[in-house]
Amino acid sequence: MLTENVKSVLAEVALPNVSEKLIQEAQSAAALQTAPYGPGEQAELVNQIKSLLRKEDAVLVAHYYTAPELQQLAEETGGYVADSLEMARFGNEHPATTLVVAGVCFMGETAKILNPEKRVLMPDKNATCSLDLECPVETFSKFCDAHPDHTVVVYANTSAAVKARADWVVTSGIALPIVEHLAEQNEKILWAPDKHLGSYVQKKTGVQMLIWPGSCVVHEKFKADGIKLLKTKHPEALVLVHPESPAEVIEMADVVGSTTALIKASSTSHEKKFIVATEPGIFYKMKQASPDKIFLEAPTGGLSATCESCMRCPWMAMNGLRNLKQVLETGTNEIEVEEHIRSRALVPLQRMMDFAKERAISMKEKGNA
Ligand code: SF4
Repeated sequence: MLTENVKSVLAEVALPNVSEKLIQEAQSAAALQTAPYGPGEQAELVNQIKSLLRKEDAVLVAHYYTAPELQQLAEETGGYVADSLEMARFGNEHPATTLVVAGVCFMGETAKILNPEKRVLMPDKNATCSLDLECPVETFSKFCDAHPDHTVVVYANTSAAVKARADWVVTSGIALPIVEHLAEQNEKILWAPDKHLGSYVQKKTGVQMLIWPGSCVVHEKFKADGIKLLKTKHPEALVLVHPESPAEVIEMADVVGSTTALIKASSTSHEKKFIVATEPGIFYKMKQASPDKIFLEAPTGGLSATCESCMRCPWMAMNGLRNLKQVLETGTNEIEVEEHIRSRALVPLQRMMDFAKERAISMKEKGNA
């Protein structure tokens, strides 16, 4: 159910449509990467990529939603598997001169914003995100201009240009304390682009926000009735939900949190079985941390659908060993962000990172007190 302020924003902005055609194009590109390997092909690709990473002084950083073979390769070569913020932070601290970002475009841009002196490559620069697509900078800027008394808070899943228009960038892991902090300063908040995460933050903090009506094509599809049915078959299972999911799915959760928080919850819980409502690429790290536990995909089709759980992020799936090797060989798909945008986008991004750092120090001190 949409909140009243999302309805009012819907009346104000013309949201671009993330069409089925666009998703199908991404799925076609992804099919080239996910096609079964021929005999010995995967091992040969892995060996070639390892030697190219060394030759190019490059490090691979992969998102939790990418294919298991990419996550494994990142770990085997001294790279990193993480959420978008941790990917950027790792890239910032690593001495390699080239960062290879396996993920979607805003992650490559974030890496470049934080590391302008480094070369940032991506296996496919067309790998985007529905949240990014649904928040074009021109429309968004007009909307911000129409509400000049609001502090602009944008989710990490936005273009560099949208970040450059913001006062704060947040991830799902840090959104709640940042919004609480702003509310303490009596600031009015304009939130973009994820309406479900925005509504969740609003409900948890009690802070009224003007919420942009974007959504994630993956999390939007999780269905409460399907999860309820699965739960009747597995009553002992804990339900883990990413807050980009609809409110009725969040209401069913035992744990709501970022990708990092959900992985942590699955490994620290005494329960052995989990129903997981987020992109199933996350299972690689969950199973790695808890090989003896059982992870079930939350249904995405609802009771009437023939496909109970077929939702994969079409853009994350565009990353594969084949195009990773190609990009390291050719140096194509380099991420560029114009300097006037990069320097402005760095301000809200750095603000979030400084806030997260100070909060971590203060929590540690309180813990030690
Ligand atoms: S899973 Fe959703 S939020 Fe994440 S990259 Fe894909 S479309 Fe964007």
